[in-house]
Amino acid sequence: MLHEPLRLGRLTLRNRIVFTAHLTGYAADGLPTPQHAAYYAARAAGGAGLVITEEHSVHPHDRPYEKLIRGHDPAVLPGYRALTDAVHAHGAAVLAQLNHNGPQSSGMYSREPVRGPSAVPDPMFREVPVAMTEADLDEVVAGYARTARHCVEGGFDGVELQCSHASLARCFLSPATNHRTDAYGGPLENRARLLLRIVAAVRRELGDRVLGVRLGGEEGIEGGIGLDEGVALARLLEATAEVDHLNTSIGVATASLHLIEASMHTPANYATFIPSAIRAAVRVPVVAVGRFTEPGVAEQALGEGHCDLVGVARGQIASPDFAAPDGPTRVCVGCNQECVGRVGVNRPLGCAVNPRAGREAVLLPAPGVPRRVTVVGGGPAGLRAAATAAARGHRVTLYERDRLGGQLALAALAPGRGELAHVVRDLVAECDRAGVEIVHGEPGDLGSADVVVLATGARPARRPGTLDVRDVLDGSAAPTGSVLVVDELGFHHATSVAELLAARGCAVEIVTPGMVVGQDLGLTLDREGFRRRAHAAGIRLSTDRLVTAVEPGRATLVHHPTGRIETREVDAVVQAVAAEPDDVLWSTLRHRSGVHRIGDCLAPRRMDAALRDGERLAVNL
Ligand code: ADP
Repeated sequence: MLHEPLRLGRLTLRNRIVFTAHLTGYAADGLPTPQHAAYYAARAAGGAGLVITEEHSVHPHDRPYEKLIRGHDPAVLPGYRALTDAVHAHGAAVLAQLNHNGPQSSGMYSREPVRGPSAVPDPMFREVPVAMTEADLDEVVAGYARTARHCVEGGFDGVELQCSHASLARCFLSPATNHRTDAYGGPLENRARLLLRIVAAVRRELGDRVLGVRLGGEEGIEGGIGLDEGVALARLLEATAEVDHLNTSIGVATASLHLIEASMHTPANYATFIPSAIRAAVRVPVVAVGRFTEPGVAEQALGEGHCDLVGVARGQIASPDFAAPDGPTRVCVGCNQECVGRVGVNRPLGCAVNPRAGREAVLLPAPGVPRRVTVVGGGPAGLRAAATAAARGHRVTLYERDRLGGQLALAALAPGRGELAHVVRDLVAECDRAGVEIVHGEPGDLGSADVVVLATGARPARRPGTLDVRDVLDGSAAPTGSVLVVDELGFHHATSVAELLAARGCAVEIVTPGMVVGQDLGLTLDREGFRRRAHAAGIRLSTDRLVTAVEPGRATLVHHPTGRIETREVDAVVQAVAAEPDDVLWSTLRHRSGVHRIGDCLAPRRMDAALRDGERLAVNL
C-alpha cells in the first residue's frame, strides 16, 4: 500500500510517502540555495513520492523570520529551477508551499506592524496586529497569484497553501483570531472567504497543476478550530472542485507548537484522527502527518483507511532512504535537538542522528588509503566514528568494556525516553553492515593501529554525599523516600530521572540554580509535556536555588534572589551536573601520532555533538 502509486491531479505519484513542508533555515537573502536543492533531492533519491518544500512567502509585508523564501520576488526563479530539476531528476514530484504568516510574526525584520484579521495578538509574538482592510486582502490574493506564477515558471508541479500552523489564512479561519463583523468574519463561509479567493486566484495561475491545501483539524487553543470545523472546511474546499489534495495538521505554531512537532514522549499516529475524519467526508486524497517514524506505522494508517498519503518530515530528515524497499537506515526518535531545536534559534536545520542532514550540498573528502583504526568506547561518538570509517574502507575494531550505546543506552531507561535505544540499535546495525569488528572489553596493545580514536566518554563529577543520575539509571543506587534532584544541565538528565523516581514512589523535588527547571526542554518542545507530567506526579519544581552543602539526611540551599538559606530533609540527593572527561587513555597516548579524542572524552556534551564528532573525524580519515 505504502509503495502503491497514487493519482494526484494530473500527477501519478510513485508511492504514498510525502516529504512534508518544514522550515529549514537554508535560504540566503530570501532566495533558495544549492543546499535546498541538494536537501530535497536527497529525499527524492531516497524514494519519496512527493516533496513539498518549506513555505514561500507571497507578500513583502510578511517577514516573520530572517531565512524566509521570498516567493513573490522573481529573483527566486533560478533557485526554483535548480531545486525542481534536482528533485525531478530522482523521479519525485515537487510542490512549493505558499504562505503569508499574518499576525504570527513580528516587526523585528520588517520594522512595520504585523497584519491580521483582527487586533488579536499572537501569544508568542505578543504584537497587536493591524486589522486588514479589503484593499489589503486584495493585495494578498494578488501576491498568492504572483507567487503561484513564479512556481509554474520555476518548474514546480503545483503548490500547497498553508492554512494551518502559522498563517494569515488560518487566522481568518479560526474564531480565536477572527473577530470581524464584515463579509470575512462570523460564520465559517465568511471566515473561509479569503482562503476561497486565494484558491480561485492560484488555480487560475496553475492551470492543471496540483493545488493542495493544508488545514488544521484541532488547533488545541481556546476558541480555535476543532475537528467539526476542520471537516466542514474540507467539504467547502472540495466543493470548489479546484483542490487536488488536503493535507492536515494538529496544533498551531506559537500557541500549541508542541503538538505539531511532538517529541519522543508522544506516540506515533497521535494526529491520525484528523485525516481520518476528513477522509470520511471528502473524496480528494488526504495526507496524514504526525510522527510516522517507521514505515510499518505509516502502512497501518493507510491500510486502516485513515489517509491516502503519509507525511513523513522528521523520519526522512533522519533517513533520506525512508522509502527504500528494505526500509530506512535509521529511525527518527523525536529528540528534536537539531531540527526543531536549531531552526527555532535561526540556525540551519540538522539532525542529531543523521550528521549529513543540512550538509547535503557539501561534498565529502575522498577516503584516504585504507588504515587500521581502533576505536575505544562504544557510545554514540565511538559507534558513529566506527560505522563511518568502516563504510569508507578502513579496517575498524571497536572496543566497549561495558554496554554498547554508552550514556545513550542508559538515558533510554528513563520513562518516555526509550526510543533512544533505536539510535544505539541503528548505529550498531550500521557498524555490522560496514564490517566493524566489535570487541567486548578493553583494548590491550594499541601499537598495531594506524589510527586510535578515543571515545571513552565522561565520568560523573562526584560530590560528597550525592548520587549521580547515572547511578539511578544503571541500578547501582535505588534511592527511596524523599529525593532532591539537582538540575545543573537544563536538559532531560534531571527531569527524566525525577520522573523515574516519582514513578517508583519517591517524593521528588527538582532544584535548579536557573530560572526554569529543564531550561532547554523548551527548544525541543518537551517542556509542556514535562510540566504536565511533573504536576500529575507531584514533582516539586524549585528554581533560583543553589545546593551549597549535603549532609546525611539534609541538604542546604541558598535562594539567590534573596540570599535566604533553606534546608531540605531528604533521604538522597541525586545530581545532574557537568561530567568530567574520561582522559585516562588520553593522558598516556597523547604524544603518539594518529590518536584522536571525540565525544564526551573531548568535552562532555549532548548526543548530537558526540555523533557529529564521530562523523567528522571519520570522514577526514
Ligand atoms: P560519548 O557520548 O562520547 O560516546 P559515552 O559516555 O556515551 O560517550 O560512551 C563512552 C563509552 O566508552 C562507554 O560505553 C564506556 O563504557 C566506554 N569506555 C570508556 N573507556 C573505555 C575503555 N578503556 N575501553 C573500552 N570501553 C571504554
